[in-house]
Amino acid sequence: MLGYANHAAFRIEDKMAKVPETVNSFLSDLRTKLAPGGVKEQAHLLELKKKDEESRGLTPDGNFYLWDNRFYDRMMVEQEYSIDETKISEYFPLQSTVQGMLEIFEKLFGLVFVKLDQEERQRISPTGKAEDIAWHEDVIIFSVWDDASEGDGFVGYLYLDLHPRQGKYGHAANFNLQPGYLQKDGSRRFPATALVCNFSKPTEKKPSLLKHDEVVTLFHELGHGIHDLAGRCRYSRFHGTSTVRDFVEAPSQMLENWCWTSSQLKSLSNHYETGEKIPDELIEKLISTKHVNDALFNLRQLHFGIFDMTVHSPNSHEELEKLDASKLYNELRAEICGLKGPEALGQGSTWGNGQATFGHLIGGYDAGYYGYLSSEVYSADMFHSSFKKDPMNGKEGRRYRHTVLERGGSQDEMETLKQFLGRAPSSDAFYAELGLAAA
Ligand SMILES: [Zn+2]
Repeated sequence: MLGYANHAAFRIEDKMAKVPETVNSFLSDLRTKLAPGGVKEQAHLLELKKKDEESRGLTPDGNFYLWDNRFYDRMMVEQEYSIDETKISEYFPLQSTVQGMLEIFEKLFGLVFVKLDQEERQRISPTGKAEDIAWHEDVIIFSVWDDASEGDGFVGYLYLDLHPRQGKYGHAANFNLQPGYLQKDGSRRFPATALVCNFSKPTEKKPSLLKHDEVVTLFHELGHGIHDLAGRCRYSRFHGTSTVRDFVEAPSQMLENWCWTSSQLKSLSNHYETGEKIPDELIEKLISTKHVNDALFNLRQLHFGIFDMTVHSPNSHEELEKLDASKLYNELRAEICGLKGPEALGQGSTWGNGQATFGHLIGGYDAGYYGYLSSEVYSADMFHSSFKKDPMNGKEGRRYRHTVLERGGSQDEMETLKQFLGRAPSSDAFYAELGLAAA
């Protein structure tokens, strides 16, 4: 009715990719490049499974199933990299880690974070009551300012709601509470942003300790928060993280690299008992696991992305009506990542209805799941071109803040990216990160 060939064409038109063909060729290129690595990784995991089964007196059937993947992936990291997650977490108590992260943003972007005490909260609360500007007593509030090099101006408010409690959202995410924009009289309405996470609460004896993947998550979500705070748009519609879906994750994905850089891990660390920094040897071990089974992981992401594109670009309405979605979902998975399911046990391909539990398909990421992968391309490109050599380069940090973060979605994101990179984006850094040669 709207004149588009299919839903994907309609959805992608105003994204960075513009047309489904760009998305499809990106996904199929990635698939070709990742396939050999996936086969290799799976063969290794299958070997591990065989040994494990034999040690338990079972007869291996020689298949590597969907449900084996996470189990043997973890076993492999434990056995072959001897990573002790609990030991690493002792170096990352929540409080000092958050403090360390804010310091990184201070140095990089020229921001200052001031924690609001009871008196300050009272002063700025419209009702004069401190408790009226937070929704729970656990919530920490910072007022955020530009430092002297950035002109000392006010930036906005950062709320941290870090611990679980009954009835609370169960994930880790960033939410905009109030966008920034220019008011009719030309004055600026400042943003407020909240990090809602679920890190265990400290006890009297032990602080809340973050596992490395939690450190990465926290930094990722704080990254969205900073994107939100840095916004300087005229209209609230385009403020902060209100960018297109195939770009919105890029800034936070880029920041995750700081948590995989030894100098940054060192400076963030602070042993909860001794105050010592994390030893080099532990950092090296940790960093060596960054790309373990990465091809398989990305092939699974590709399965989601390719299924999403396939169901949203049928040749005809009739084709869609006849579609057996479960069969397509299972067959694509087996084809793309090689992970077997009940069909390998003679039960056909219509089991499970996995696509029905995949909310992204209709929850706003329809014909958009590829965005998780394509924004990895942009984030790797930005990191490698500006920060890999020196992640604490304040000049580059400020340039990034003003060229990328500040603009939000107020101009075509491809334009923003080109302005920051000084050229069109390239997938070389992304493939290099995955250990694959560039095209
Ligand atoms: Zn994110």
